[in-house]
Order: sequence, then C-alpha cells, then structure tokens
Amino acid sequence: MRRINPARFQVATRSTSREINRSIVLNLVRAHQPISRADLARTMGVRRGAVSLIVDDLLKSNLIFEGATGETLRGRKPTFLYIDSRRSAVIAADIRASETFLMLADLLGKPLTGVVSFPTDRDPKRLVSALALRINSLLAEHRDLDVCQGIGIVVPGMVEHSTMKVLHAPTLGWRDVNLRDPLAAATGLPVQIENSGRACALAQVWAMRGDAAATSGNLVFVSVSDGVGVGVIIHGELLRGRHNIAGEFGHVPLSLDGPRCSCGANGCWEAYISNRATLARYFGRTEQEHFTIEDLIVRARNRDAKAVAAIESTARYLGLGLASVINALDPARVYIGGEITRAWDLIEGPVRVALAERTLTPAAAETDIQRVDANEYPRLQGAAALVSAPPFAAPVVA
Ligand SMILES: [Zn+2]
Repeated sequence: MRRINPARFQVATRSTSREINRSIVLNLVRAHQPISRADLARTMGVRRGAVSLIVDDLLKSNLIFEGATGETLRGRKPTFLYIDSRRSAVIAADIRASETFLMLADLLGKPLTGVVSFPTDRDPKRLVSALALRINSLLAEHRDLDVCQGIGIVVPGMVEHSTMKVLHAPTLGWRDVNLRDPLAAATGLPVQIENSGRACALAQVWAMRGDAAATSGNLVFVSVSDGVGVGVIIHGELLRGRHNIAGEFGHVPLSLDGPRCSCGANGCWEAYISNRATLARYFGRTEQEHFTIEDLIVRARNRDAKAVAAIESTARYLGLGLASVINALDPARVYIGGEITRAWDLIEGPVRVALAERTLTPAAAETDIQRVDANEYPRLQGAAALVSAPPFAAPVVA
C-alpha cells in the first residue's frame, strides 16, 4: 500500500467547522483512494470514531461511496472509500480565440469522452447557441449517466467573480459579456466561468495531482495559448484583486515599444510568448491560417533553423517574464501549460538562462518550474474543477 506521510496534512481542530473536516476527509479520499477508515484516521491523527462520523455524513451526501473489501494480514477486513464519480459528470469547455474545446468528464476530471473542438464564433450569442447544441447532444449520447452537475467554462479574459461576467477578453474582443445566463437557460444546467489561468491554478490547489502540499499553497500557473493566462495562489487562496484583474502578468510590458498586443498596448509579455507571437516570429507578417504551434515544433525537431530560432526566442521571453513573476510573488512552484510545453526539451534551457539573468537571488532562479503535459488538457481539467471541486474546497489540506 502507498505510504502516507501524516506530517503533510493539517487537521482541523475541534473549534473549526464541520465543513472543513468534511473537506479534509474528501481531499484525503480523493488523493489516496481507495482508502480505509482506519488509514484515514491514522493519516489525520484522530480517533477512528471521529472519522466514521464524517464518513457517514459524506456517504449520505453521495459524495463518496464504499467499494471492494481490502486485504489485511489479520483482523477485520476494511471496506475502501472512493469518491463517487461513477454516475455524475460535468461538462468542461475551454473557449479560446481560435478554437473552443469541449469534453464530458467525471467528478475527478477524468475524461468520459474524447475532446471535441470547433472554431470559436466571436459573436457571444452565436457561440452560446453552438455550445448549447453540442452540450445537449453530448448529454443525449450519455443517457446512462445519472446526473450532470453543471458546465465549467474557462475563458481567455478577466471574469467578475460574483456575476461570472467576462469583463475583458482581449483576444476575443469582448467586454462585459454574459455567457452564463443564456447558456444556463439553453441547457438547463448551472454554469461556472473563470479565467483560464486561474482555473488551472485552482485545479492544482484542489489537488488534481495530490501534491499541493509541496508548494505550501503558494503557486503560479502560466497558461500559454492564443494569449497568456496567469493564475496566482497565495497561502492556498486564489488572488483576485479589487477589480478581478490581479495576476494579469500577460499584459505587463517587457518593452514599451515591443510588438502590438491583443489588449491594444505594445510590448506586453503575451505579445512575445503567445502561440500567435511565436508563429508570427516564424512567418513574419504573413501568418498562415492553418499552421499551428505543433506544426512549428515538428519543423524545429526536423532542424528547420528558422523554427528553432522562433521557439528559442519565445523561450527566452518566457524566462524573462517568469523572472518578473518570481520577483513579484516568489512562489514555491510555477506550472507552465500550453502547446509550447510539447517542446519543453528544446525550451527549458533558454528559459532557465533568461530566468537566472533577471531573478534577484540565485535561490529564486532555482524556483521549481513544472510543465503540465498538453495531452492532459490542463485548461479543460481546470474547467471541470470549477464544477466538481467546490465541495472539496477548504484551507490547504493536502
Ligand atoms: Zn496586452
């Protein structure tokens, strides 16, 4: 059996609420399932009776279920606990300027279908119609599922947390766009919307990977696609700021007279490292419509010198911008997501060199940087977590 290090978990004391204890147990079950009540009690350092009360409560709420009987050397055979992801599903959507991606996932964010994509209609009304049509047919194809818990959507822009209105999405040319209400009306499902970088960061905290403890709740997620989305977690909490724009490092300038950015300004970090920026560097002004960043990476691997140069430039600017992020926030870990990570073996070196040039101490230059595999669709994982993770949300526990 996997070993669990009790020191990694903070156990809520008697004075903390029942909700927190529920969340702690849920997170432990999710990170270590299948797990017995006895192992839960050991991990939390509390009596078995106390754990059983919480577990019974969660069983009644259908958030976990009891599965196969486990093997032990002697004594009573324990039953194992699982997150109940069998019959419930969520819809995850990743809206980007070029394409929109969609999948059906279980409550743990595991895909139940392949990922489908279609060109993004920038007219919000038509986009909502297209989304509703595809979502309704996805659900019709999966009538065996008992419940769809809702739709989680990530967007390339700033989102007002209370209303989920898209305040500004530069790459889409949107301001004050309400997708939530019309999509909820067209599908009959609750809709959650969040900025893509933030949703990716939240998904990390909600321990999709189960190693959030290593960061002590201080991490940054940089999502590079048509634009650049950044999510900042400080002490386990997502940084939103007074006007919902906190952490928008994509629009911090690297140079005041740099290339034009989608936001209208010049020289933003995004204008140097987005997929569009990398492709523009390769093609010059005449960007080719059906040529993707993946195609460029293939050319670089086939020793196309121009392709290698374009990708290495992006890597250098990625490192320079990361140095600003690290100097400003000093996170324990930075996650990088996006298609460019498929070329990680080509870019990690130049990223590290640029980072070391600008970080303020040698230790900061060694900040843990982890790429998130593009095949895992981190943005769709983030979208799914918007719906499935809130019951797990609690102070940093795992
Ligand atoms: Zn900008």
